[in-house]
This record gives sequence, C-alpha cells and structure tokens, in this order.
Amino acid sequence: MPLLLDQIKLTHPHLYRSFSLLPDAEAHLRRIGELDRYWEQLEHPVPEVILPASALPKDAVLSGEYDLIYAGGTLSLLHAAVMAGKYGRKVMIFDRQRPAKSTRDWNISRPELLKLSAIGLFTESEVDSVILRRYKSGWVEFYQPDGSQKRLSMENVLDCAVDADKLLGLAAEKVTAAPGSTLLAGTTFLCCYQFPDHVVVKVEDRAHQVFYYKARVLVDVMGILSPIAMQLNDGLPQTHVCPTVGTIASGFEDVDFDIGEILLSTGPADLSSGSGRQFIWEGFPAEEDRYITYLFFYDEAVSLNDKSLLSLFETYFRTLPEYKKPGKEFTLHRPVYGIIPAYSHDGFNRTREIAADHIILFGDAASLGSPLTFCGFGSMVRNLEHLTADLDRALGENNLLKKHLEKISAYEPNVASMANLMKYMCFNSATDEPNFVNDLMNEVMVVLDELPERYRQAMFRDELKIEELMMVMLRVAWRYPKVLTATWEKLGVQGSFGFLKNLAGWAFSPVR
Ligand SMILES: Cc1cc2nc3c(=O)[nH]c(=O)nc-3n(C[C@H](O)[C@H](O)[C@H](O)COP(=O)(O)OP(=O)(O)OC[C@H]3O[C@@H](n4cnc5c(N)ncnc54)[C@H](O)[C@@H]3O)c2cc1C
Repeated sequence: MPLLLDQIKLTHPHLYRSFSLLPDAEAHLRRIGELDRYWEQLEHPVPEVILPASALPKDAVLSGEYDLIYAGGTLSLLHAAVMAGKYGRKVMIFDRQRPAKSTRDWNISRPELLKLSAIGLFTESEVDSVILRRYKSGWVEFYQPDGSQKRLSMENVLDCAVDADKLLGLAAEKVTAAPGSTLLAGTTFLCCYQFPDHVVVKVEDRAHQVFYYKARVLVDVMGILSPIAMQLNDGLPQTHVCPTVGTIASGFEDVDFDIGEILLSTGPADLSSGSGRQFIWEGFPAEEDRYITYLFFYDEAVSLNDKSLLSLFETYFRTLPEYKKPGKEFTLHRPVYGIIPAYSHDGFNRTREIAADHIILFGDAASLGSPLTFCGFGSMVRNLEHLTADLDRALGENNLLKKHLEKISAYEPNVASMANLMKYMCFNSATDEPNFVNDLMNEVMVVLDELPERYRQAMFRDELKIEELMMVMLRVAWRYPKVLTATWEKLGVQGSFGFLKNLAGWAFSPVR
C-alpha cells in the first residue's frame, strides 16, 4: 500500500516537507484523514447505530457487564475516574485508538483546574504536576492595515499549559485501580441495542472480531465523529465548526515564554476558497523551549469553504513564518489538530439532542462547549461535579430514560448565547468587506479595554454575566454601528430571533 506521506507530496508540499521530519507522520496522517471524513459524513445518509433490542443477533454472547460503558477515551477518563473512584461504579472505557492519548494539549487557568482537586479527583500536587508552564499574562489582537490594532492584555486566562496525556494518564490509573473497571484500546464502536432496562454495545477490535457488552448506560464520548450524535440530531450534529491545526515545536526566533498569545490575526480574510476564511492564530509556550502554535477559522458546518484539516495544515506550514519565524534550530515535535464543534440552539434552552434511553452524550459529542474560547476541556472541568453526581443519582434511582438523562448536561445558557458571537467571526465574502471580522473584533477589544479587567477575563473564561454581555454589545454597537447591519446579514431573521431566544433563556435561567 502506498505511504500516505508519498500521496501528499505533490498536493500538499509544505505539509509533506514538515511531516517528513516526524517519525510517526503516517499515524498522524491516518488520524487527520479519519477526522476529515467528518465532512463526507455530513453529506451521506445517516447510519442507524441505535437499534431496537429485537435487532440483536440471537447468537450474541455478552463479554462483560458494566454500570457505565464509555465509547471514546479522552474527556471520558475524567468522568469515569470520578464514577469509578468516588461513586464505586463499574466502568469500561474503550477507544479505537489508545484511551488517554489526545491529539492536542490544553490551556486553562489554574483556579479552573483546581476544581479537579476540589471534587476529589486529584490532589492539588497531582494537578500542579500536569501544568507544563504558567504564563504571566496573555493578549488578544486583530489585524488593522494601519497597525492601529488594540492589544488587549489579561491575566489568569488560559495561562496554564496542561500536559493532556499526563492528566488523562493519571485519571486512567484511577479507573484501572477501581475493582472491575477497565480500559480497552483498538476497539471501535459499531452500534448499540436498546433494551427496556439496559443497552448492549457492539464493538470490534483491530482484527475485526466482534464483541458485545452490556451496560446500564452507554456514555457517548466519541467527539465530533460520534455516529450516535449524528443519528440523534438527524445528520447535522453541529451547526458550526472550527477546524484547527498546529504544532508543538521549538526553535522559533521571536517567542516570549512568559506570555500567551490567546487570539490574533495577521491579515484580512483569505478569499481563495468558497465564501472565504478569516484565519486566526494562537501561540502558547509549553514545557522547556517548546511552543504551541495553532491556526484555525470559524465556519458553518455546511459551507462552500475547504475545511479539511489536511489543506489547513498545508496553509499552516506555508504561512507559519508570517506569524512566528522558525530559526536555525527549529524542531517539530508533534502536530496537534481537531475540529472544534459548535451548536447554535434555536430556542430558549438547549435544543440539541444529547440523550436517548440508556444513552448519554458528553464532551464534544454533546457539543455544548463554547467554540469562541476553544474550551471543550474547560467545559468538562467546570461541569464535572454535577455531571458525575447527577449521573450517579440517576443510576441509584434507576432514572435512565431519555427524559431523565437529558437533564444531565453541560449546557450553560451563557455559553449558548455567547456562541452566537461566533457567527460574526464566520467570514462571508457575499456580505463582508475583507477586513470585517478584524474590524469588528478590534472594536470589541477597544470596548473590553475600557471596561474593568473582570469583563475580559469572564469573556475568555466563559463566565460572562448577561448584564456584562449587554454592556459589551451596546458599547460595540455605539462605536461600530455597522454591526447592526452585519447582524441582519449574518444571522438573518431566524438567527437574530434565535439569539434573542438564547438571551431570554439566559435571563430567566437560575444560572445567570
Ligand atoms: C487543536 C485543539 C486545541 C484545543 N485546545 C483546548 C484548550 O486549550 N482548552 C480547552 O478547554 N479545550 C481545548 N480544545 C477542545 C478540547 O480538546 C476538546 O473539547 C476535547 O478534546 C473533547 O474531548 P472528547 O473526549 O469529547 O472528544 P475527543 O477528544 O475528540 O475524543 C474522542 C475519542 O473518541 C474516539 N472515537 C471516535 N470514534 C470512535 C469509535 N467509533 N469507536 C471508538 N472510539 C472512537 C477517538 O479516537 C477519540 O479518542 C482544543 C481542541 C483542539 C482541536
């Protein structure tokens, strides 16, 4: 079989050159290809993976029985470690790759991270042991052709670089230490069968051998590729996406290891594909001399733009020197990548399906995090305490039907409202001037700069209160009236009403 690397030599020359230096390039290209199949999935008929009990083959033999089976082995580790360690539930986690191995690293603030020790999952020193580096501050800025962009600085926002694999590894140790609980690698979810009081999960191993396991609840944590989310949401599990690629590298010429570059753009929208893309960079110092850079853009899940991670990687390697200059000692250590999901709820409350009888979705499969701030990991950390306690209670009371399970969610009305702001960051050449996203965001930065620091911290930590968002929006509209026409053009009648419904839901929510 021809090597994947050779196949991209002519089509993606910059990516080819850079990945040729990696020992595990083929494995990464396979995972990138796996994620890029998401775009095809959106166009194909939705496969049925939640099946009635009657469809279970008569000769199916159960290989094990658990309280909870987690399909997907990333954020699931945190939830499962609490369910097994604190609540004594028997859990199984399987992943088609290796559980507790991520294709990314995470940034978060230390106070947020300490929530993991507050709920008893880790000790404070375990939490500190996964922090690779802590920065003094961070900043955000959006390109202005005349160099007048406002650089908005802030402290205690995404200022800790976390070793994701180490954190997940610690959680994995806690899962396997619990009697009867287990982790399975190289195991792919195929489908599940719903019985009145349980679910049977069908999986296959790398040799295509099929196994059946029984659980009281199947926890779907398969991320953006979740076939369960696809079926429950009629083939459109996300309304918006944020394709993201980057690397962990060392040897840049111009890096400040005390500062996080939270968001920045270096030019107007790129018009070479579909309706156009406003590229945004991020730069975060990691351990020792390593530095993480990301390139991404916001878009609708279904659009004419080329959203493949493969071509975004080509753009990344081609344009990286415009952002950070690789020096003579430049070394690529590892690529990081993924598709960050977003869902715009057209209602006063959550409208996305996140549960079925004996099935519940968490993490990116549930798509309830904020795409604006990238913080899917942060969302799990913030909500872990109630996501575990509520599920344990549901198991105890045997309330495992959809109507009960769907109440256990990381839905936050403020995050849902804030997600509307992402729509302004989806560039559209039909309605927007090439520098529209930068001009608007620059005004937001000016407004935030005039307000007390807690506004910007709250905005970038998904903790903004409704009256604070109103204050920001009114000030931006006053300074930059074009945002009113943009609202009409970009959100339309339905989107504008959707935004108002989200705000009303937030205003009347007990969690304000
Ligand atoms: C580049 C990048 C940087 C990020 N940085 C941050 C950050 O700084 N801070 C933050 O809070 N968030 C960040 N995020 C978001 C965060 O990484 C995600 O929200 C988080 O990884 C979601 O975890 P998950 O377990 O829900 O899904 P995933 O991480 O996508 O994991 C899903 C798992 O399911 C497995 N799987 C899929 N299909 C199957 C199947 N059929 N059978 C078996 N297994 C399957 C996959 O192999 C995978 O291991 C970032 C995301 C990206 C892409």
